[in-house]
Amino acid sequence: MAVPQRRTSKTAKRLRRTHFYLKQPTMVECPHCGAMIKPHRVCPECGYYDGKQVIAKAAKEK
Ligand SMILES: [Zn+2]
Repeated sequence: MAVPQRRTSKTAKRLRRTHFYLKQPTMVECPHCGAMIKPHRVCPECGYYDGKQVIAKAAKEK
């Protein structure tokens, strides 16, 4: 079985872990209903995409 030749230093371990964090997702305003949504996705609030109704209105209706 492969075994590491030397122990990973505290610094190397900590530098690697500096990337272990969650990023804030990019959000845009739905041009139809104004809700904050992820870009390039059907709006879960109103079901619109590219100016057209593409899915039935979501459960949360106004
Ligand atoms: Zn919308």
